[in-house]
This record gives sequence, C-alpha cells and structure tokens, in this order.
Amino acid sequence: MKGMNNKLLIVNLESKKISDFAISDEILDNYIGGRGLGVKIFTDRIPPKIDPLSPENILIFATGPFGGTAIPTNGRFSLVTKSPLTGGIFYSNSGGFFGVFMKKCGYDGILIEDALKTPGYLVIDGEEGAKIKDASEIWGLDTEETLDKLRNIEGQNIHTLMIGPAGENLVKIASIMNDAARAFGRGGVGAVMGSKKLKAIVVKGGKKKFEIKDPDLLKKYIRVAQDKIKVVPITRSSLPKFGTSALVNVINILGMFPINNFQKGYDERSFQVSGEEINAKLLQEPEGCFACPIRCGRLTKAGDMKGKGPEYESVWALGPNLGVFDLITITQANYLCNKLGIDTISCGGSIACGMELQQNGLIKNEDLQFGNASVLKKLVKQIAYQEDIGAELCEGTSRLAKKYNSFETAMQVKNLELPAYDPRGAIGHALGYATSNRGGCHLTGYMASLEIFAAPKKIDRFTIGGKPDLLALKQNQKAIEDSLVICAFAGWSLGLDYYARFLTAITGTDYDVITLTRIGERIYNLWGGAGGKSTSIEEKVD
Ligand code: SF4
Repeated sequence: MKGMNNKLLIVNLESKKISDFAISDEILDNYIGGRGLGVKIFTDRIPPKIDPLSPENILIFATGPFGGTAIPTNGRFSLVTKSPLTGGIFYSNSGGFFGVFMKKCGYDGILIEDALKTPGYLVIDGEEGAKIKDASEIWGLDTEETLDKLRNIEGQNIHTLMIGPAGENLVKIASIMNDAARAFGRGGVGAVMGSKKLKAIVVKGGKKKFEIKDPDLLKKYIRVAQDKIKVVPITRSSLPKFGTSALVNVINILGMFPINNFQKGYDERSFQVSGEEINAKLLQEPEGCFACPIRCGRLTKAGDMKGKGPEYESVWALGPNLGVFDLITITQANYLCNKLGIDTISCGGSIACGMELQQNGLIKNEDLQFGNASVLKKLVKQIAYQEDIGAELCEGTSRLAKKYNSFETAMQVKNLELPAYDPRGAIGHALGYATSNRGGCHLTGYMASLEIFAAPKKIDRFTIGGKPDLLALKQNQKAIEDSLVICAFAGWSLGLDYYARFLTAITGTDYDVITLTRIGERIYNLWGGAGGKSTSIEEKVD
C-alpha cells in the first residue's frame, strides 16, 4: 500500500534474532495499519488462552498510512497485546513522536516476542539497524531518569517507549510511557513489557521516505482540514486554551462527574481542578504531538515538581473520585504515576475502590479515607512497588473487590476501570462502556459527543431509541481512525469524509465513508473473535 513501508520489524527476545517481515497488500487493504494491523497480526498468531505475562504473549506497535505526513494530528500510533488486567486482547493508543520516527526508520510496526533472560533495551537506528542492548544501568530507574540516561547513551535526538518500576514489578495497572510523558496507559501493558525484561525501545536516525500517490492533492485536502480545525470552537479554542480538563466544569454541571467512587455525580468544589484553574495555577506552556495544530497537552509546575498534565481523566481519577480537590497534590500524584509508569485512571479507580471498602468496614486501613489528600503520593508509590496496601490495590478493582466479596464496589467493565463520565447521565455512553471490546472505555465509541456536545447533532442523553445503531457506527469509525492513525480530537472538526479523501490521495485507490466504515467494522468484530476471548476474572483469581 502506498503511504506505508509494507514492513514489520520482528524482534525475538529469547534468541535475539531480529528480522524484517513483509506485510502483504491484502492485509493492509483489509486492516489499513495501526490498531487494525495490530489486531490482525495478533489474532493470526496468538491462541486465546495464553498467560498475558508469559513469553507467549506479544507486543505489536503499529502506525498507519497517515503517520509521518502533514495530515493534522497523525502522531498517534497503536499497541496490541493481551492484557494482564482484563485477560482479553487489548489495544492502546498514544501520541507524541515515536510512531512517526519508527516509520522513518522504515517500519510500519514492531512485533516483540518471547522474553529476555536479563534486562535489555531495543534500539532501532534508521542508519545502523536494530539491536538489543544491556539495560542493567537503567533497570530500576523511574521513567525520567531512564530517559536522561538513554539520551546520554543514544543521543539527544531519540524517541522512546519505556516502563517504570511498576512495569518491572509486573503491576497489572502499569503503563508503557512514551518519552516519559505520554502513555500507552491502560490495560497493564507495562507489565507485559516488564515480563519480557524489556526496559525500553529507542528509535532514532530514520530518514526513509514512503511514497504518496498524489502529493499535491493531499496538500490541498490538508489545507482545507487545517482551515476547518481553526474554525470549530472545540479545536480552535477549548482544547488549545484549556487542554482536556476543559471538560471538568461541563461534566460536573451535568451531574456526570463521578465523586467518591461514583457515589455522586456532582461536587461544587470540582471547579478547583478545572482546566481554567490548571491554566491559572500550574500552566507553563501548551504542548502537542507531531503535526498537531491543536496542542492540547499541558506542561505544568506544581510546587517543587514539574511535568506534563494532568489530563481530564487523570485530574478526576486522582482527585474528585477520591474526594480530593487539592490541585497541587493531584498534579504531583499524576507526575508520580508518569515517573513510576502507572495508569492514572486505573490507579485512581483502585484507590477509590479501596476507600469504599474501608468506608463499608471491609478493609481496615486508615490511609484509605475519601478526602485524604496527604496519603495520595504514598499510595501511588506503594502500588508501584507492591508494598503494604499497595500490594492489593495494584491488582486493579475487580480482583480487589472480589477479595472482599464486594464486587459492586469495583467500577469497571470487563475488569477495566471506568473513566470520568458517570454512565447514569447518558444512556448511549453507558451502552458504550458495556459493549466496548476492550472493557470500560469512553474512547471506543464516544457517544458523549452526541449526547453532551451536540457534535455533529444533539440527541437526548436519557432516551434509548436508535442509540445501539449509532453506537455501533461510532465504534466502527473509531476503529478505522485508530488504524489510519489520527487523533480522536481531530474528529471534532474533521471526520471520515476527510479521512477518505486523504487516503485516496495517499494510495491512489478510491475510498469513501462507507468503505472505511466497513473496514472499521471488520476490525472491531475481529477483536471479539478467538483472540479476543477473555480469560474470566474467576479463572484468574481462583
Ligand atoms: S489534540 Fe492533543 S492528543 Fe491529539 S494529537 Fe494533538 S496534542 Fe496530541
């Protein structure tokens, strides 16, 4: 397919054999790239019942035909693996620069299989090829320390994926950090990398070009898309000005902002953690991924610490859902999650579950009190190192609540902790959680765009009629976005009609909205096939 390298790098960690694998046009025509390519390769190779933390599991990082072009927000890329948290096959999506640099090294994806005997890291050098190196100097370091060391060793112009101590310790809510600030956050994917003793992946030095069928036509379409992004209020103003935490006040006023482990949907103190307050008290400067005119990221300073975030989901998970409204403490806990390599949503969800168990007299632990901001950073560290109560919280809400025979305190779907929208406030969004093929996720088919933000059209959030069909459409469309590789936030301004035109200009093949939606449906449904069959929580716990 034009726009791709048609090449996957396969790295066998046990034998240390590194080889190129040609990806057929048939696979790319049917699954495009990114998430679609990852799920196709995963389901072709991996039987459903493998242990996610065994050498049989694989990690596939993949970009798509938009990656590395000038199409707005194409810095996203996908990861597919089997999740130790949910027991199902799992996709995750991250932004930044790594995916584009990987593509410039000549690869549409990297497949990691088996496991190292001692800690190592993988370097993919566009000039000199790929090799596995000893990681004894960086094993045990946090992600910021790891990035500093890797820059000293490999040069300043690198991009990295890495795990922190949580991934090394096989914590089931560990993330893979991307340049120490962005993340493949969800599903415990960091533990999969930890089980392979792979501390980091470095890309550098790539100068490969991929062919575009009609570059002038693509430029013309990109200009139109950039103009649209500049006029639609959310992409022109809300996200660039306030970041994703622009959502806090809106969702709170609607009574959908979960407080104290979803016991309430509104708290008048929530404005204290809003995007407006982050701007006023913490913001150093906005930042963005490759080729992104929106730049929703926030570089911030909180007390004596600096870092990135907090994003909407993180500020909620580590704040109001724990009854905590102290923005400095929340932000520092968020930095700590990034340094230790922990998913902020599942971290906050697990602590909130523990607090409700304590509230109900089932856990005896004085730290686990709603509103107790002073222990937040201590709890995050305990989770990363599996110490004290952290040894229970690090298992995620399903296992924690099951242990205390109080499963209703686990706010999750398919063992994945819910994000920051109370499902009782929007019926379609609730159905999205229930049917999401990776578990409790708002991104798999974001019905809130219709039910809350009237984009492209307002529908009543409390009615049922017609929503299953609409949701299925949105789920299929998100699957294709993740496969072309374009940020979900571009969807506020653009849509599949734009993406079909981009892909036509790149490949020379005519694409339209219906064709792309059908490919998305194929990807979404393949997910639920043999490879997607979850190991149940009963099997995992008993
Ligand atoms: S909108 Fe935000 S997350 Fe999306 S590509 Fe831009 S900076 Fe990255």
